[in-house]
Amino acid sequence: MNIIVLATRNQGKTREIRELLKGFPVEIKNLEDFGPIPEVEEDGETFDDNAYKKAAFAARVLGYPAIADDSGLEVEALGGKPGVRSARFAGENATDKENSEMLLREMKGKSNRAAAFKCVVSIAIPTGPALTYEGECHGTIIEEPRGENGFGYDPLFFHGDFNKTFAEISMAEKSRVSHRGKAFQEVADEFDKVLDWIDINMPEFEKVVCVK
Ligand code: IMP
Repeated sequence: MNIIVLATRNQGKTREIRELLKGFPVEIKNLEDFGPIPEVEEDGETFDDNAYKKAAFAARVLGYPAIADDSGLEVEALGGKPGVRSARFAGENATDKENSEMLLREMKGKSNRAAAFKCVVSIAIPTGPALTYEGECHGTIIEEPRGENGFGYDPLFFHGDFNKTFAEISMAEKSRVSHRGKAFQEVADEFDKVLDWIDINMPEFEKVVCVK
């Protein structure tokens, strides 16, 4: 059975992706299944840079194909901010609440409230080549947080299909329309091809036999 490593320590994310890819001949591990490995700095200019950096690093260090995702919020009136800085918009160790407050301050008086969540998924092998999948989800930024579910900017992100914020709908409803849900659904839809690509491109590691 093929092993693929999810370059995350987040068990919730791992559960979701295992569920999406169940039925395929793969064993999905995550970084918790291995010893400590160095953290990757997410200092790329784009979601693609960061997703690739995380996937390629895990693949190179662990010797297995690896999957990583990177996502964030782009707000039209702010020229695409917070973008790759979504997790640290209000500062290096900012909380979700602090980042949301910062967003509301920057959006004060702006009539264009259009925004999109974006997600890039990268699937890399140890020698460097990678496949990329993308998903996006459009909505508007409301003026006050609403709802208790989700995380990050969910209470400020209003989605027209539901007439609710992402924090007012269930996780299953969100996954159907969200950037991450769409990107991973595309991976799942094409996973047969992904496995073929891995088979063809995965390097053969030489087996060393120890003789006493
Ligand atoms: P990550 O790359 O998935 O860790 O996301 C980076 C940051 O983007 C998070 O810390 C959130 O601030 C924001 N973000 C990404 N996806 C979502 C989402 O689905 N809802 C709300 N915020 C999100």
